[in-house]
Amino acid sequence: MAKCPKCGTNVENPVKTWVLAPKGRRAVTIGLFKCPVCGAYFRAGIK
Ligand SMILES: [Zn+2]
Repeated sequence: MAKCPKCGTNVENPVKTWVLAPKGRRAVTIGLFKCPVCGAYFRAGIK
């Protein structure tokens, strides 16, 4: 779940997820979310 940076709506499920694994750092799962209220796309880390 992530919060829309434009309107503050909590979006439950990401449209897409992928793993970002920089060298020498812990891998982080990133999700692409679409806000159902304002239609904005935004990325957020998923724990
Ligand atoms: Zn929004």
